[in-house]
Amino acid sequence: MAKKVVYIAGLGLIGASLALAIKRGQPEYEILGYNRGEQSRNIALEKGMVDRATDDFAAFAPLADIIILAVPIEQTLTFLKELAGLDLKENVIISDAGSTKAEIVAAADKYLADKAVRFVGGHPMAGSHKSGAIAADVNLFENAYYIFTPSSLTKSGTIEEMKDLLSGLHARFVEIEASEHDRVTSQVSHFPHILASSLMEQAGSYTDEHPMTQHFAAGGFRDMTRIAESEPGMWTSILLTNRQTILERIEDFKDRLDKVATWLEQEKSDAIWEFFDHGRQVRKSMEIHKRAGVDSFYDIFINVPDEEDAILGILELLRGTSIVNIRINEENREDINGILQITFKNREDLEKSAKIIRENTKYQVFLD
Ligand code: NAD
Repeated sequence: MAKKVVYIAGLGLIGASLALAIKRGQPEYEILGYNRGEQSRNIALEKGMVDRATDDFAAFAPLADIIILAVPIEQTLTFLKELAGLDLKENVIISDAGSTKAEIVAAADKYLADKAVRFVGGHPMAGSHKSGAIAADVNLFENAYYIFTPSSLTKSGTIEEMKDLLSGLHARFVEIEASEHDRVTSQVSHFPHILASSLMEQAGSYTDEHPMTQHFAAGGFRDMTRIAESEPGMWTSILLTNRQTILERIEDFKDRLDKVATWLEQEKSDAIWEFFDHGRQVRKSMEIHKRAGVDSFYDIFINVPDEEDAILGILELLRGTSIVNIRINEENREDINGILQITFKNREDLEKSAKIIRENTKYQVFLD
């Protein structure tokens, strides 16, 4: 395939990681980068993520066969408008990386309709709380969903060309309508961020009156609130560009809380039991037990006494077995089975390891 010129606007976490992964898959392509700030631009150049870089967005756009906007959502909308006034290559593909899609796809349809260009919305569903080119990671999108949201400018072959460009990401490509994307992500991503921050806000004020709150916060609380550490600017943009569906999720949730409150007031133990049981069944049936829905990960929990070398002893028993992760849950243990959590890649390793530990120690062993 002919060498292409790819222009990535925004060399932050997402843009710079895309650049690295595109280079891995398509080493012969030329990658041009735009970044407003000097620091990420210099890092991207020094580390060879891009071949050339500019702080003038319009400068490289006419050279590109594919343009990917990896800037905040508001800026993506501004750049789409700006692209309409530039002399672009005929049939150039324009895409983006924004976390919400309906407004971006609508803006592309509005501003670019009269131009000989193609557009498809994109959302690489991976990230972290880090930002800037310094945080770039070639494996960031490995096994993650990469969502395409077509527009009226997604002419035939556009998504196939994008998949080819992005083959080095090792991501899982999915196509979905933009407003459906925003509905689904409002439920599993946007609304949970609101909940996590609300929980932190509530716990913060409660700690003022009840100082032990922060000491008793254990694994469950930590798991539910991890995402409250996310970058506030990005989440403000996400909420403001997906207002209606998020408001609906909030209203729906209020009803659910009210329902639980009523059961509590009326001491309806059966209803409360059913509520927890249903939540448990739904969670078990969802893909969240898998990493990005592909590789299943298998956890073992071992009740280890607080003794010298106890953990080392277990690891010694498992020598030769591939371990994905080890975690020591040292806090309040009311909601987890045991203190040492070891994660394996497959059920075979998990079962083999459980057997070895049971046969060679007196520790209680629980499987996920
Ligand atoms: P980042 O903060 O690491 O990078 C943002 C980039 O945009 C930087 O290069 C910055 O210089 C540039 N920028 C910011 N404001 C600008 C402005 N007004 N004009 C020009 N450039 C500007 O952020 P990121 O995580 O790489 O996010 C980029 C896009 O990717 C966002 O649209 C975000 O919604 C989306 N996204 C983020 C994640 C994530 O978890 N971080 C995941 C998927 C998609």
